[in-house]
Amino acid sequence: MVADTRLYDVLGVAPDASDAEIKKAYRTLALQHHPDKQSSSDGAPADSSRFQEIQHAWETLSDPEKREDYDNFGEKGPGGRGGPGGFDGADMFDDFFAEMFGGMGGPPPGMGGGGGRPRQRRKTQTEPSEVELPVTLEELYNGANKTLSVERTRKCGPCSGSGAKPGRQAKPCMKCNGQGQTFAMRQMGPYIQRVPVRCSLCDGRGTKVRDQDACKKCKGTRTVKEKKRVEFYLERGMHFGETIVLKGEGDESPDSCSPGDLHIIVRPLPHPTFSIVPPPHHRSDRPADLSTTLSLTLSESLLGFSRLILIHLDGRGLRVNQPAPGQRGWRVLKTGDEVVVPGEGMWRKGEKGDLVLKIEVAMPDEQWAMGLAEKGGVDTLRGLLPPRRPDLVNIVEDGKDVDDVTLEEKKDSADDEEQWYHGNGRPYDEDEEGPGCQQQ
Ligand SMILES: [Zn+2]
Ligand SMILES: [Zn+2]
Repeated sequence: MVADTRLYDVLGVAPDASDAEIKKAYRTLALQHHPDKQSSSDGAPADSSRFQEIQHAWETLSDPEKREDYDNFGEKGPGGRGGPGGFDGADMFDDFFAEMFGGMGGPPPGMGGGGGRPRQRRKTQTEPSEVELPVTLEELYNGANKTLSVERTRKCGPCSGSGAKPGRQAKPCMKCNGQGQTFAMRQMGPYIQRVPVRCSLCDGRGTKVRDQDACKKCKGTRTVKEKKRVEFYLERGMHFGETIVLKGEGDESPDSCSPGDLHIIVRPLPHPTFSIVPPPHHRSDRPADLSTTLSLTLSESLLGFSRLILIHLDGRGLRVNQPAPGQRGWRVLKTGDEVVVPGEGMWRKGEKGDLVLKIEVAMPDEQWAMGLAEKGGVDTLRGLLPPRRPDLVNIVEDGKDVDDVTLEEKKDSADDEEQWYHGNGRPYDEDEEGPGCQQQ
């Protein structure tokens, strides 16, 4: 029987769900609610709170120890542990010790470090760190061996993460007397309450390395920055925002028993030819489609064609044989039409999505029409093309005129606006008389 099911509800799984089920639910939801994803797909502002909630649920339920604590004690954790100043045996000893020697600069000579052992936070794996991986569509289509240079935090080697010189060690923090927490007054509704807060000097550990005892390498910070080149394989067809997990390649907190994982988040880069059309959210196991524009001449759009239309992401050429009028499968392809080449989209495991071609018909230009006119071909073409529309003068009511007008290039509307607002330094000038008000 679990104490609380909220985190399971967030992921939409049962409290007895397997690790695999939890992972699957998390991946689906994280993809769906990723803030970048949301804002890019429908233009609405991203709601990151839902994503954070999903992330939080995942971090708790994916860690066997944390999950067990959650199942037994709910989100507050067992007996206040997890917050600063939790009380287990070691803490009680520290408290006792701090009471005796707190503020006196550590244990008296001769006692060694026996009593002053630093308060241990519960040893768990460090939280995973995240890094984004920009990938080209070629890499995503073909799969790729990748290397990434990451800077990460590691437990300091020479002091094994204690922060102290050899033979020295951390001593009870002077600010909090080794408690790891201090108290602050806080307004809670109509009351002022004394609430515990994590000690800022020792960051809640209750112990602090004195400056003269500090490790030379890490200066007492207990960690060092390290550059590392990590190598991994980018599986073909990974979706936007999908994560590659490298075990133990993330940051390492000196309080943890093992380094955290490195989460590499896949971010496809824009491509000059293709764009990705992701599958619907509930089908994130499906391969994505690819989409591109196919520009046709007027002749091709009407009469069919046979030619190489593009080079695919793996270097293959794709040739289309579009039938001529009267042949089987013929149709006029108009600007705005979308046609599909099945099985030429993005990979996903052993399958491929489709390639969507958005048709754009390029109309012949003035130069072509002039050339036609020079060769005396205008009447011939007019005879071939669909007829012009008749001049329907008779739809004008009796007594109304028909005015002859000309067609001109439309002015850039941005320029007009500029003129309107800034031409005279103000929208319009009341002192200046408009053309309609000219009086002599
Ligand atoms: Zn402190
Ligand atoms: Zn060190």
